[in-house]
Amino acid sequence: MTVDIPGTFAAWRARHARPAWKPVCVERGPQASRFGGEPALAEGERWPSCDGCRHPMQFFLQLALADLPHAFAARGDGLLQLFCCSRDDGRCETWSPFSGAQLVRLVRGPTRLTSHPAGLTAFPARAVERWRELVDYPDPEDHAALGLLYVYDFPNERVSVSCAELGLALRDVDIELDVAEAIAVAATGDKLGGWPSWVQGAEHPGCPRCGRRMELVLQVDSEDNLPHMFGDVGRGHITQCPEHPDVLAFGWACS
Ligand SMILES: [Zn+2]
Ligand SMILES: [Zn+2]
Repeated sequence: MTVDIPGTFAAWRARHARPAWKPVCVERGPQASRFGGEPALAEGERWPSCDGCRHPMQFFLQLALADLPHAFAARGDGLLQLFCCSRDDGRCETWSPFSGAQLVRLVRGPTRLTSHPAGLTAFPARAVERWRELVDYPDPEDHAALGLLYVYDFPNERVSVSCAELGLALRDVDIELDVAEAIAVAATGDKLGGWPSWVQGAEHPGCPRCGRRMELVLQVDSEDNLPHMFGDVGRGHITQCPEHPDVLAFGWACS
């Protein structure tokens, strides 16, 4: 007997579906939104350095908020930029939001394209030519918080899953069918908005100013648009406070 797992949970999927956008990049272009290349620094600004090792950080990406898809409803204005320490000497907790081993910020006003300082080589520039929309769903790590209850019967290799609020249930499904992944997974790879795809457990940072849960702006994956590996094929997330657009964070995890 085949079980239509996503079909059984169609109402739950529809409730939590969100748009996300994949960057479609070209090697050269006039676009201000890009991965790698040179950043636009504020006039007279010194190149950002890491709080851990004090060395200059690598420029990862910038997004011109005004150029993002209208439906994304970007908060704030100017350029959202990510710099991250690319040294690995143990003092630089690049995975940890607010550690000072990364800089995520909004830059406004006059800017100047600036080359990396000596000792750092820019990543190849990949300009975002357009954004391709997709429908995204919550990762299994977020399912419980969204009302799905999984009850595992390991001795019998069965799992039951239910959503009391929507009156949905599947009983005693073969554990080999990976029922959580069949119900919904978040898209991997670089993407704007949508749901975070977690490598480990869900980690939604809280805003240090107001405590609100910060929301995903951009997922940055290993070796997608940046030739960079976050640990062992890790995945990172730029998040933003819904109340305070200037409060941004970046964190990543690997298995
Ligand atoms: Zn560092
Ligand atoms: Zn806040």
